[in-house]
Amino acid sequence: MNNSIQDNTAILNEKLRHLELKYAREAGSVQLMAVSKTRSTAEIRQAFSCGIRDFGENYVQEALEKQQHLNDLTLGWHFIGPIQSNKTRQIAKHFDWVHSVDRLKTAHRLSEQRPENMKPLKVFIQVNIDGEDSKSGVELSQLNSLAQEINVLPGLDLCGLMAIPLPTPEFDRQRQAFRQLRLARDALVENGLINCQLLSMGMSNDMEAAIAEGADWVRIGTALFGPRQRRE
Ligand SMILES: *Cc1c(COP(=O)(O)O)cnc(C)c1O
Repeated sequence: MNNSIQDNTAILNEKLRHLELKYAREAGSVQLMAVSKTRSTAEIRQAFSCGIRDFGENYVQEALEKQQHLNDLTLGWHFIGPIQSNKTRQIAKHFDWVHSVDRLKTAHRLSEQRPENMKPLKVFIQVNIDGEDSKSGVELSQLNSLAQEINVLPGLDLCGLMAIPLPTPEFDRQRQAFRQLRLARDALVENGLINCQLLSMGMSNDMEAAIAEGADWVRIGTALFGPRQRRE
């Protein structure tokens, strides 16, 4: 057994509460998602026993295998990786949240394929904050129209925006990137998308900057489970 998950959870929870205070965020308002890509079901069970209930996965096949072995637990499953068209049916069926929607076509498929007996799938639109062609995420200039179109899809519940800014060690630059996402969110809400409130931003190395700028969900892998051994 690996006691460090327990230690890391305690450290993270303390840090979250400290940062909420420091940046005048409501106590308990920042949610922790454990990014469990490449991690074993034993590690997920350990995190569960430390009180963590939400897990993020990037690969559909890997996630479904783990879900099968963990179906005795009540967990919130978040899909946070790139979405291939041929995987949307499984994502729509087996996840509670999707953080990486960046195209209307994907959104349509997820909406149509969401089983009728389930609540609408909660989705975030992933925004390309740094404007790099190679990365996923919708350009800021396209965001408003994409959000308006997704907002009316019956199988989806558009709940906010997500971004993965270029990594930088500089706190001010981290904050600047997250601030862009927050301002984009504010503009959408002002444009009538009143449910599109949440910000999914911040990972192990930029969590403080994200919380300072209003993160509702932080997505934490390394700081909880330790360094990843296998592929990203
Ligand atoms: C891997 C991953 C994370 C977690 O990154 P860490 O640096 O390990 O905390 C968060 N979000 C996404 C989308 C990821 O792919």
